[in-house]
Amino acid sequence: MVVAITRPTRIKISQSAITHNVSVTRKISGAKFMFLAVKANAYGFGLQTMAQAAIKGGVDGLAVAVLDEALALRQAGITAPILILGITLPQYAKIMAENDLIATVSDLDWLKLAAHNLEHTANKLQVNLGVDTGMGRIGFRKREALAQAITYVQDAKTPFNYQSIMTHFAEADSVNNDYFHEQLANWHTLTDRLPMPPMVHLANSGAALYHADELPTDYIRAGTVIYGMEPSRGTVLADDYLRPVLTLETELIYVKKMPANAAISYGHTYHTQEGEWIGTLPIGYADGLPRSLKGFEVLINGQRAPIVGNLAMDQMMISLPEELPVGTVVTIIGQQGQYENTLEDVAQHVALAPWVVATGLQERLLRVIAD
Ligand SMILES: *Cc1c(COP(=O)(O)O)cnc(C)c1O
Repeated sequence: MVVAITRPTRIKISQSAITHNVSVTRKISGAKFMFLAVKANAYGFGLQTMAQAAIKGGVDGLAVAVLDEALALRQAGITAPILILGITLPQYAKIMAENDLIATVSDLDWLKLAAHNLEHTANKLQVNLGVDTGMGRIGFRKREALAQAITYVQDAKTPFNYQSIMTHFAEADSVNNDYFHEQLANWHTLTDRLPMPPMVHLANSGAALYHADELPTDYIRAGTVIYGMEPSRGTVLADDYLRPVLTLETELIYVKKMPANAAISYGHTYHTQEGEWIGTLPIGYADGLPRSLKGFEVLINGQRAPIVGNLAMDQMMISLPEELPVGTVVTIIGQQGQYENTLEDVAQHVALAPWVVATGLQERLLRVIAD
């Protein structure tokens, strides 16, 4: 992995926006303990950068998809609780126990294989039992199997701690609540009166924001909302109570005045006007900007300027409103003067969800914490 620190292209992560989003989410949900999902390079915002800023901003624990992400956080010196949301192969149980990680478990067989791997380890492995109430992904679907697993992890002779239990909603961020309620009813059928561990967490961002009065929210697992993206994309709540966290900016690296009808970029799909000023930016589709971003207006000198021609792998061109010098700041996502481009604006231009656009932002992009 190479991070490009020598080109003037960077992602700025706003510390104050994160702190704001954490406190708003805490207030609305009533959460006492908040895991921030930092899987997939923190939704593209940058794993280490986000983890540090989020802990400073008031988050209590972190949730990752895979063991490697958890180990990267431990190596970066993060001591907060870390939950691995996906299933880790049982041969890594010992590594998880030694690094004080919480492992998500979906069946008894896994526990028995993991117990074997943990035989000569002093540390017990912290277990998070997954309950599948209708996501259809991972987790126990039968009450008896879940009860058996609980008995097994609670047994003092097994190398486990019954630390946590969770379920995940497939549709907590919709105006139609039917499926959410179906899943919540399944949760009660599957778990009521079974022994509960210290951490019981059902809510993702959508459930924490829109359903806090219907389910336990002492512990929540939030992602989207802390990154400043409204989970329902404006259909349940307006998004102005959140602050955008991510700015993507670059600088003009090359500027030229064009003759009439000159072609721009691969496929020569754009032709210039006489005297048109074309600026080249050191960022392209290999940085994770969708190629369909063509035509999107970036911000420069307090004005809007469209991306012209096809994005190239590492560079792209914009049509400048006037002659501007090399080094002028160009904001692709973020605010300049009276204008603002949000991740949602980019997402709408390319017909994707904002978190899909964000997770595409590549590791090559330099990430820094600002304000
Ligand atoms: C990603 C993830 C979350 C966070 O979801 P958001 O909708 O971004 O808040 C919570 N729980 C699980 C199991 C996840 O995979």
